[in-house]
Amino acid sequence: MASPVHLTFLGGLGDIGRNCLAIECDRQILLIDCGLMFPDTDMLGVDLVLPDFSWLVERAADVVGCVVTHGHEDHVGGLSYLLREIEFPIFGTELTIGLAKGRIEEAGLLKRTELCVVADGETWEIGPFDVEFIPATHSVPQGVATAVHTPQGTILHSGDFKIDLTPVDGRLTNLARIGALADGEGIRLLLADSTNADQPGHARSETTVGKVLYNLMHEQEGRRVIVACFASHIHRVQQLADAAVAFDRKIAPMGRSMRRNITMAREMGLLKIPDTSLIDVEEVDRYQPGQVMVLSTGSQGEPMSALTLLASGENRWLKITPDDTVILSSHPIPGNENAVTKVIDNLMRQGAEVVHSGLSDVHATGHAKAEELKLYHSIVKPEWFVPVHGEYHHLVAHTRLAQVMGTPSENILLAEDGDRLVLDDKGLRPDGRVSSEYVYVHGTVGDIGTGVLRDRRILADEGVVVAIVTVDRKAHTIVAGPEIATRGWISDPESGDVLGDLVGRVTTAVEASLADNADVSSIERSIRRAAGGFVSERTRRRPMIVPVVLDSGVVTKGTNIGAKPKGGGSGGSGGAGGARRRRNGRN
Ligand SMILES: [Zn+2]
Ligand SMILES: [Zn+2]
Repeated sequence: MASPVHLTFLGGLGDIGRNCLAIECDRQILLIDCGLMFPDTDMLGVDLVLPDFSWLVERAADVVGCVVTHGHEDHVGGLSYLLREIEFPIFGTELTIGLAKGRIEEAGLLKRTELCVVADGETWEIGPFDVEFIPATHSVPQGVATAVHTPQGTILHSGDFKIDLTPVDGRLTNLARIGALADGEGIRLLLADSTNADQPGHARSETTVGKVLYNLMHEQEGRRVIVACFASHIHRVQQLADAAVAFDRKIAPMGRSMRRNITMAREMGLLKIPDTSLIDVEEVDRYQPGQVMVLSTGSQGEPMSALTLLASGENRWLKITPDDTVILSSHPIPGNENAVTKVIDNLMRQGAEVVHSGLSDVHATGHAKAEELKLYHSIVKPEWFVPVHGEYHHLVAHTRLAQVMGTPSENILLAEDGDRLVLDDKGLRPDGRVSSEYVYVHGTVGDIGTGVLRDRRILADEGVVVAIVTVDRKAHTIVAGPEIATRGWISDPESGDVLGDLVGRVTTAVEASLADNADVSSIERSIRRAAGGFVSERTRRRPMIVPVVLDSGVVTKGTNIGAKPKGGGSGGSGGAGGARRRRNGRN
């Protein structure tokens, strides 16, 4: 009996983002990717979302390394957070490591890892695994599929990929090598990208975008052109640069990641732009509009990005004029559509012409569509298949494609984040679960959990009512208050009577509790009940109710807001012994 192999999916199955897979054999764990996810709009204030690393942290001593398939944030963006908890080496191609390094360096964690640059076709021995790096085309150069050779046979992880037969750098997805593996010992298990599994047909080649961009640049003669695309999409940047150079335009990179990635990719020889064609964005005004192309970040409408600031007139380098054409060489990632539309509207309001993927073929996806996936399956002919990298409906669509291509349905497993599978001599089957909670990062990791987010949603939707009262429990009397402070619940003109009546209701509740000899937390509960009931029946709203009871000058912490009354910001002087009824300056 060969050693069984366990697979634990920590992210990326059910959402696009935070891709992270643990492959385990003989108690040694190899990670494939360690990404982050960008938050949905309902995750108020959240900067980013990570996989739940708690299981990995428990197994810290067993982690032998992390293979990164390519340099997108949903594959490398979590490394700098996991490295705070555990130390491990990272393996990837030169550009992938270069892109991953930025955040790790910023976090001051380089000494907790070893960055190992691999070359196409190489096989590295990592713990009990032999890991082979196979070229794959994607929307960032130097992506790879990984063939992980295990005692249970070869596990092929496709990475993010498309089958681009004419990629900008000529580096094809190495289907021949995959075919050789399949026809030799065979692929025991395939894990493959599902992002576009429900899209019919083939993804367009990246080079077809180049032609469109060239023609556009031709049409825009005499006008200033500002193009936004992903800063890591070096091939898109190359094609844009080529078009600019062809029409004698200077190229001005704008936005931190665009400047950084262009510098890095030129140093690595992956991006060819003549020195004489590059200018600083601060020099743009020295040129005629028709002599410049600005290359910007912010194609997803990210709030603080160069393009969003430009659209709102807050960009410190550029102002939009009617001489500008803005090209969004991208497609909004699901969830970003509204932000992108707003940016387009604002650019147009300022007079710019805007070209986007809805109007022109200025973008091609980096993920294989249905026909490419079928081709892949026909070459890999896996014994077992698990779709990865997709929302649930993408994963389901991919299982159907696998069936069409001949994998029996009993050999296809639909797993989700947190699922653990075991592959042994008998085959592949579920084997328990680990925690796969969203870990929300706002400022410092671990700051907030689902409770805080729930509170934020209530505050955002309904506002807050704080009721403060000072009591003398021994004397069974109210010493001061109740005082009511509110935000976001009720507008000033209508608040007078309501607030007065609310004070009355809270007073009655507190007096009843005091007569009952209630302790402080019971008094707070009675305030929450009384105020909540009143607010709901009177205004049909459900703001957060925060009762604060002070017992003879002793501050009691009854809530997570700790709303000790202070004058600052609330529009009233206050203090617990302040006016019996206070109205806020503004609500
Ligand atoms: Zn991805
Ligand atoms: Zn990707």
